[in-house]
Amino acid sequence: MTVETSPAGVPAPRDAGPNSDVDRPGGEDGGERGSQHPLRRHRTSTLSAAELADVRGSLSPSRAADFKTCPLLYRYRTIDRLPEVPSTDQVRGTLVHAVLEKLYELPAAQRTPAAAAALLQPEWQRLAEAEPAMAELFTGDAAADLDGWLASAGELLDGYFTVEDPQRLEPAERESLIEVVLDTGLRLRGFVDRLDVSPAGDIRVVDYKTGGSPREAFEARALFQLKFYALVLWRTRGVVPRSLRLLYLKDREACDYSPDADELARFERNLGALWAAIERATAARQFPPKRSRLCDWCSHQSRCPEFGGTPPPFPVPAEPESAPVDPAATGVGDLGAAG
Ligand code: SF4
Repeated sequence: MTVETSPAGVPAPRDAGPNSDVDRPGGEDGGERGSQHPLRRHRTSTLSAAELADVRGSLSPSRAADFKTCPLLYRYRTIDRLPEVPSTDQVRGTLVHAVLEKLYELPAAQRTPAAAAALLQPEWQRLAEAEPAMAELFTGDAAADLDGWLASAGELLDGYFTVEDPQRLEPAERESLIEVVLDTGLRLRGFVDRLDVSPAGDIRVVDYKTGGSPREAFEARALFQLKFYALVLWRTRGVVPRSLRLLYLKDREACDYSPDADELARFERNLGALWAAIERATAARQFPPKRSRLCDWCSHQSRCPEFGGTPPPFPVPAEPESAPVDPAATGVGDLGAAG
């Protein structure tokens, strides 16, 4: 049975369940996609029962990045589990990802811009039926906006074809769950948009970005996400990915980055330290707001002290409050300092 611990004394984080989706509001692509991602086909954990039994805590790139960005945002999303209404930009990102996913199901010769455009409407209908919250964005007075919004999604797909030729690619995996339990008991998991593997075994991690400016505000978060995936792949497959590729569809630009083992080892230590910090914050129930440009995209300004709001009471603990907080007992409180 999975031992899936949350920070002591609080409800389990929403991405802590053994088979739960990890892509939440403000998902792995910098807040572009919505919750309960309909693309995620492999929600069931890939870990064995023995591996799951060793789990002492769980992080996805989204939740880790949330805490780094703003501890209060992490609290609202992971501990309070406050709902977030998806934005049209987020849903457009989901739609474009869905179309690209479908596009690669076609024989290579049929992966044309026209084929991608033809997938837009049916994929939108599928998503809207799967997630009514998406469809509700285009009801009432907003119904007239749907055609223009679909056209803007089509422009992003056009952008895709300027940075890659899908007829020349045969991805090894798409929308794939990758996860690992580190020696410390910290489970890392996330969904990669695409994995390419060369005949020589070189791995390239590819992530589609559909957001617009200010890109720099999301750049660090995007790189953090890709390093997270690279670390998981290194630990599960024994190979450091040769390349991490960000495809900015709006800017029509590809950014490639090559990690090395030393860097990923440092990153692993940093994640351990980050989890320890989350443990300490949870034990103290201290999640301070941290204002940044990303606040413009935050759904929680009305309850944020930085914007004159008041946080709701901390959620009722899942366990008796009298239970002592012992970081050592969690197995994640002493994972070492950042490298
Ligand atoms: S508005 Fe900004 S500071 Fe406040 S919770 Fe959201 S991200 Fe944090």
